[in-house]
Amino acid sequence: MQVKEITDIVEAFAPLALQAGYDNAGLVCGSYAGEVQGVLLCTDVTEAVVDEAIRERCNLVISHHPLIFQGIKNLRPENAVNRCLVKAIQNDLHIYAAHTNMDSVAGGVSGRMADKLGLIRQRVLQPEGALYSLSFYTPAAEAERVRNAVLEAGGGHIGNYSRCSFNAEGTGTFLPLENSRPYCGELHKLHAEKEVKTEITVPEYRLNDSIRAIRENHPYEEPVWNVVKLHTPNPVTGLGIIGALPEAEDPLFFLKRVRDIFGCGVIRHTACGASRVQTVALCGGAGASLIHRAIREKADVFLSGDFKYHEFFQAENRIILADIGHYESERYTKEIFYELITKKMPKFAVQFSKVNTNPTNYL
Ligand SMILES: [Zn+2]
Repeated sequence: MQVKEITDIVEAFAPLALQAGYDNAGLVCGSYAGEVQGVLLCTDVTEAVVDEAIRERCNLVISHHPLIFQGIKNLRPENAVNRCLVKAIQNDLHIYAAHTNMDSVAGGVSGRMADKLGLIRQRVLQPEGALYSLSFYTPAAEAERVRNAVLEAGGGHIGNYSRCSFNAEGTGTFLPLENSRPYCGELHKLHAEKEVKTEITVPEYRLNDSIRAIRENHPYEEPVWNVVKLHTPNPVTGLGIIGALPEAEDPLFFLKRVRDIFGCGVIRHTACGASRVQTVALCGGAGASLIHRAIREKADVFLSGDFKYHEFFQAENRIILADIGHYESERYTKEIFYELITKKMPKFAVQFSKVNTNPTNYL
């Protein structure tokens, strides 16, 4: 099994194109062509994790946080990142991360948090990412084949439906000129062909692949397609999740449940003004930028990590803000990696790191 075969599985779920501009998700050490003996899953790559990978003969380490974030000027063993890299290179390890791209898909980091809390009617708290309507014209006899190729490239998903398309029959005309090689019709003779116009909704990050599918599968020398940007963002990509508890809960009871589920050393939270909690917004990692969004969406509580003192003031008794810890909020992300890989390859050696990489302790 090659590294790329495994990272392709992760990226089919969380495409690298969805990562934030500042991020460095993807393969940061090793080679996509490398042969994988075993996979070790973790939240952070630390020296203890690298040692564990070597010991356990897992030569592919998949983490949520990328080992390398900033430019590296040398590989002297003066900081942990450099020491990890040198040891990884010396031991032929491949190191890969799915970070903000895993934050930005509905079933990703925040979706997993929501599942752990049993939230129903989940949707993305702050949808981001453009949607396009892609239309193209195919001779009727080939329309189904070309449409299928474009759908395989990742478009046509709307809500809980896949392979969505609209197809209308019509007549296309063209006059093949000198040096053309028409699929049908004759040189210098106006030709009319029964064609199908197909329209498919495509997210931005699948647009190039979809157009490539048209180019590679269309029988015409000059296939025609149109791209129109839709007004609304993609509802299934973006940050955070909002959903509902099946039954309203007492705020303190709810927070204690959160503490137990996520193994929080402490939860820092604003006043429990609401008598009951039912609508829950959350975001794995550092989600303070979504506080206003959670308030606007009328969430009773917003769970995330890394809230600063002044950010708690934004609650103003409209919402309960609860900082459950950055590591704690993302601790179940590695389960997503595990499920994605073992679903495709049930017998492949995939294991969780036993190292607790949380750098924060609570007294
Ligand atoms: Zn994080």
